Amino acid sequence: MTEIKHKPDWAPENAGAEFTTRIMAGVEGGHDGLPRETRLSTSRPAAPRRRRLSMDEYVQGVLAGDRNVLAQTITLVESNAPAHGAMAQEVLRQLLPHTGNSIRVGITGVPGVGKSTTIEALGMYLCEQGHQVAVLAVDPSSTVTRGSILGDKTRMEQLSRDPRAFIRPSPSSGTLGGVTRKSRETMLVCEAFGFDVILVETVGVGQSETTVRSMVDFFLLLMLAGAGDELQGIKKGIMELADALLINKADGDNKLRARAAKAEYNRAIHYLAPATEGWQTRAFTCSALTNEGIDEIWRVIEDFRQKTQASGVFDKRRRKQTLDWVYAMVEEHLLRSFFEHAGVKHIRADVEKAVIEGHMPPTVAAQELIGKYEGSSTR
Ligand code: GDP
Repeated sequence: MTEIKHKPDWAPENAGAEFTTRIMAGVEGGHDGLPRETRLSTSRPAAPRRRRLSMDEYVQGVLAGDRNVLAQTITLVESNAPAHGAMAQEVLRQLLPHTGNSIRVGITGVPGVGKSTTIEALGMYLCEQGHQVAVLAVDPSSTVTRGSILGDKTRMEQLSRDPRAFIRPSPSSGTLGGVTRKSRETMLVCEAFGFDVILVETVGVGQSETTVRSMVDFFLLLMLAGAGDELQGIKKGIMELADALLINKADGDNKLRARAAKAEYNRAIHYLAPATEGWQTRAFTCSALTNEGIDEIWRVIEDFRQKTQASGVFDKRRRKQTLDWVYAMVEEHLLRSFFEHAGVKHIRADVEKAVIEGHMPPTVAAQELIGKYEGSSTR
């Protein structure tokens, strides 16, 4: 294979994929998180397409807490159509002063660990406590695996029916960068709307944990007792990102094992660098099925918020995350522009071949490609 190892997945061969992302139709398409079946009788003809809103209607609607407008605004933000881009950015600019008043919690763990069950249990608990909860997902593979939240409509059934909650599936597949941008912007729209708890689910596909870590205040790693770390795909690196480890399924026969795992992880974490300055990551147990431990983990999150806000770490992280986001977008733009550059495309196969066959040192190859991109190549 002559493939460059770090070639991003949107490099030329499949660059088109990014732009084929579906734009979900109006609010009837499940944007409020409700399974379509709960709202539309199958015999009813499809609703007519909604009229496009004006900028003011988007902004005022979101600020006034209009759910239909919320769904339409998110659709606008998620749209890849160039015509929507400028409008979306202006709407976001106007909503920006109303954002930030939430706690953003990322939740990760291998498939089957109980992420959606836990989010449902925590979400229901929070709604009962008077919170307004938005659940978002970051899953760059969602159209392939259909594994994202609500892909299977039995997931989070109770929460999806609760008017105090809002569930938004992952934007349909694209690059991790593209999906993340949309999720971040959706998060801001949700905050402007008034959600004070944002739960961001990530599927454990390598980089997505790091990406979600970069957009949340508190990062929760769900684990299972008894399964080896290798089995759980848990690398030390992921544990180092977590502000708490939550050993799920601590019920029935598994309870004792979960407690033992908690003690073991508490010992192990001690040797890791803290994910958040001034905060000691600890392990806890819970059962998303019986709700045991759900209130405790929320108290931990509240305690985290209070301590990090008092120390300034909370705001410092958010400021850094915002700047990192800017440069992540710059980086993505530059990379794409490089791989889509006609001159680069033209010589790339030959340069790669020469490197693989040992005729050209990698440094020279990089210079050739960059030279071509910058228009200074002699080839
Ligand atoms: P996800 O893939 O991480 O989102 O996992 P799910 O939430 O879909 O859960 C996977 C399976 O584990 C489902 O069959 C759940 O019913 C089950 N499950 C989730 N949480 C618990 C729990 O706390 N206890 C037990 N016994 N089963 C659970």
